Amino acid sequence: MNLQNITITLSETKKEKPQSDQLEFGKVFTDHMFIMDFSTGLGWHDPRIVPYQPITMDPASMIFHYGQSVFEGLKAYQTDDGRVLLFRPEKNFRRLNQSNDRLCIPELDEEFVLEALKKLIEVEREWIPSAEGTSLYIRPFIISTEPFLGVHPSSSYKFMIILSPVGSYYKEGIHPVKIAVESKYVRAVNGGTGTAKTGGNYAASLKAQEVSEKIGYSQVLWLDGVEKKYIEEVGSMNVFFKINGEVITPALNGSILEGVTRTSIIELLKHWNVPVTERKISMDDVRQAYLDGTLEEAFGTGTAAVISPIGEFFWNDEKLVINDGKTGELSKKLFDTLTGIQTGKLADPLGWVV
Ligand code: PMP
Repeated sequence: MNLQNITITLSETKKEKPQSDQLEFGKVFTDHMFIMDFSTGLGWHDPRIVPYQPITMDPASMIFHYGQSVFEGLKAYQTDDGRVLLFRPEKNFRRLNQSNDRLCIPELDEEFVLEALKKLIEVEREWIPSAEGTSLYIRPFIISTEPFLGVHPSSSYKFMIILSPVGSYYKEGIHPVKIAVESKYVRAVNGGTGTAKTGGNYAASLKAQEVSEKIGYSQVLWLDGVEKKYIEEVGSMNVFFKINGEVITPALNGSILEGVTRTSIIELLKHWNVPVTERKISMDDVRQAYLDGTLEEAFGTGTAAVISPIGEFFWNDEKLVINDGKTGELSKKLFDTLTGIQTGKLADPLGWVV
């Protein structure tokens, strides 16, 4: 399949675009979307850009019953000189295919869907906000559409890309969040679906999130699903600790999602010659470092917030306050550098932007 196969039907009406300072996350969608179908025999076919609209589904569609689905999340940024940048988009489509493999969904042509995304963004160019901290959030996803109540891989799917202009994650500047360590519920286990971006993982995370919000914490820290000892992720972010000058992030272990931001932070720290290690790290290790006075910083990483400094962990009725609850120097430097590269304000030493 190549770009010539994509048919484009433009919308006759245009929606009103929200003011840059009023943008929230994921509530407003642009005028068009990309859609392509899969059926056994035909493969992926009929790629098209059409007006954004509801889709009609058979109530027996397998997505509604067994949740066979995958998704991705990335952003497009408008530069000051009017260019449009994507941050390592090939990594998101690679990960989408890895999720597909885990969920028995047919593979996509990664190069083709990246070209399709670029085409869609070209059509929606005017929707990319330009104010500081704003971007166009991109949500590619696949749902299983076969109307059948048996548990088996669907024989038909829809791949879609929708776009949403989003505001700055930090309206009042980057600031730390408070995290409750989750000791009852788990997010994922080795052999499960934690390394895939599939809806069920997020449905399963809601309960712990709800409980932590009730006690005044914004997100949860997930421990491993077997011993409930080792650190995995925070909310829907990867997590890093700076202990005695060394930056540590949990090693990929078969249940942690391999974040594009995580990979980029590791590469950037290596580029700066800052010691960075991927290894098993337990909540006991973090508490010990806190008691020793060597826990310098902690932060989450992900597409939405980029860097989210952590000001406090609440674990076993104890509050571990990090860096007096303030944003650490390294967290701030990583945030400024990565957002600078993403928005074209800073040089791109590792060749990440497209
Ligand atoms: N972990 C989980 C569970 C996530 O949903 C995300 C967001 N995709 C991340 C980590 C961070 O990944 P990325 O840096 O690719 O956004």
